[in-house]
Amino acid sequence: MTKELRQVEMHGSYVFDCPECGVENWQRCITEFLNKNNPEDAACIESLYGLEALSEDRAVFRMVSHPDTVKCKECKTTFKAVSPDADDDEDEDEFDSDMEI
Ligand SMILES: [Zn+2]
Repeated sequence: MTKELRQVEMHGSYVFDCPECGVENWQRCITEFLNKNNPEDAACIESLYGLEALSEDRAVFRMVSHPDTVKCKECKTTFKAVSPDADDDEDEDEFDSDMEI
């Protein structure tokens, strides 16, 4: 007889290595779920995935981003958080997007 395992929700996260003390830090993503019945969200979904994505009944649309600032858990230094593939000046309002069906 196999024991049924309890479930846990999995959340996306970012990681950074502290430039002051070298400790690895994990920071949970900020996740926003998009509602295709909301006109603003629907426009966003259409621009990211195309008009046909809106007809997917079971699709879950979400946008993830990192916080603007992060704090090292060890030395408590606070840093401005930027994406590794973005220029410092262009990082604001940048989101990663994801779609699940
Ligand atoms: Zn540190």
